Amino acid sequence: MSAQEPVSAHPSDDVDATGGATAVADDPHAGQKGVVDPATGQTIAWVDDLGPEAAATAAVRGRAVQPAWEALGFAGRARVMKRAQKWVTANADELVRTIVSETGKAWEDAMMAEVLYAAAAFGHWADHAEDLLAEEKIKISSPLLKGKKVITRYAPVGLVGVIAPWNYPFTNGFGDCIPALMAGNSVLLKPAEKTPLTSLLLAKALKDCGMPDGVMQVLTGKGSVLGDAIIDQVDMIMFTGSTEVGRHIGARAGERLIPCSLELGGKDAFIVCADADLERAANQALFYGMFNTGQTCVSVERVYVEAPVYDEFVAKVTKKARALRNDQPTGPGSTDVGALTVESQFGIVNDHVEDARTKGAQIVAGGDPDPDRPGYWYPPTVMTGVDHSMTCMTEETFGPTLPIMKVADVEEAIRMANDSPYGLMASVFTKDMAKGEQIARRIEAGLVHVNDSLVGYAAIEAPMGGWKDSGLGARHGAVGIRKYTNSQTLVLSRWHIKKEPQVYPYTGRGFKLLRGVTRFFYGRGTRD
Ligand code: NAD
Repeated sequence: MSAQEPVSAHPSDDVDATGGATAVADDPHAGQKGVVDPATGQTIAWVDDLGPEAAATAAVRGRAVQPAWEALGFAGRARVMKRAQKWVTANADELVRTIVSETGKAWEDAMMAEVLYAAAAFGHWADHAEDLLAEEKIKISSPLLKGKKVITRYAPVGLVGVIAPWNYPFTNGFGDCIPALMAGNSVLLKPAEKTPLTSLLLAKALKDCGMPDGVMQVLTGKGSVLGDAIIDQVDMIMFTGSTEVGRHIGARAGERLIPCSLELGGKDAFIVCADADLERAANQALFYGMFNTGQTCVSVERVYVEAPVYDEFVAKVTKKARALRNDQPTGPGSTDVGALTVESQFGIVNDHVEDARTKGAQIVAGGDPDPDRPGYWYPPTVMTGVDHSMTCMTEETFGPTLPIMKVADVEEAIRMANDSPYGLMASVFTKDMAKGEQIARRIEAGLVHVNDSLVGYAAIEAPMGGWKDSGLGARHGAVGIRKYTNSQTLVLSRWHIKKEPQVYPYTGRGFKLLRGVTRFFYGRGTRD
């Protein structure tokens, strides 16, 4: 399937084998929704706008095929994932083209944060799922269990729902399906309304790689309709998106008493100490502030610079920002910063910049979007003289903006960084590594870098999750696959007597025995 041609995905044929191409002219698109290229404003494809009944049908199908998928074992499932990894590397350009066509991002953004991630993720979970989910013989200290064997194992929950945002159609959507699948589950994936094509392409690729029908199903449709219907069907829900919708997902999962994992918004702080390598800090702040047009949960959203180096840092960032190209992403090297992916982002970004301008900030780069430009565009923008009375410093902007605030010292920087309901990612720049690490440990966020930014996301081996309003649970690391399982503890008593002394009838002897045991095991070595 090429995302350059209008296509129609028909989940009723086979939701995980989409791509039944239909010319736009032949199709009235009833029950479908257009997919727009944000860089041009043109409709490039049509996909089905599915309702709740589709979720119910897909759930039945997913549950029916799950036991056979689980029975394939880790090695059998890993074979499919390894083929998928090869597919990604062999079809990198097609995958990038599809991602760019529905997101408007630069080709380099798609290559680094989606295709490279995809290749790594298929391989990582294929190679390590078995170890991460290996059953464990547990050493037990309780005297009640002496001589018994205790084993913990991880069983797939069955059917996992994944609801995804539009900013990274692979990495924050399909990417979360891989550990769920490797754990032995079937998956229902609902991509964001605006960016379904990457998921449809990948589902088709997985099928070609040997994924049995029905194990990985992509359902396209509205969040408030289809998303909720998916939550009502599945055994666990993995959600990535806004904090507002995340609260709703958590509440709905709570009503059903199913586990949920929530990866939500961020307002990621970047601290520049007076002893930092300013050239590197300026490059990193700008790159990871503008990367993916600033639409990354872990992008640099606000910068705090110690007063002695503020002017020099601002001068460096401003010069570099003014040189950035904000052109049509037509291929590698065609632009630095791409389009905004969704139209509604324009209003948020513009509001934050205008709020700052009104309250006295200086716009030293960008800041004046061209209202006549087709597609959704906002120029890379740097703001100085900002403070926490401005929305650009307190609310998630999710756009190509970099507000830079002067702080008196590191203590003020830490206080400001933690003055946020969010706690996702942060960065600290200093040449003194020990000081950097101490600062990092005081920041309330799930991922903190010293002399780096954002790249920690690529550490699939380590948990990545938000504190405070940035989420619940984590992706990656052991927890990133165990969350798709139910743990089961087995207590195996091979050697036993007919009747333990503590059981009925209660004569008082059992009590004395338990008191003695309690003292023996826990009463020694304790002091006032
Ligand atoms: P969003 O919350 O609007 O939508 C996310 C998904 O939820 C979409 O698929 C949408 O259709 C669905 N949805 C919407 N309403 C729903 C409902 N009532 N019930 C069920 N599903 C519903 O988020 P977005 O605008 O697509 O993405 C941007 C947000 O995602 C930003 O806040 C960003 O920080 C966050 N994000 C977080 C991470 C992370 O790892 N923490 C990663 C990427 C994006």
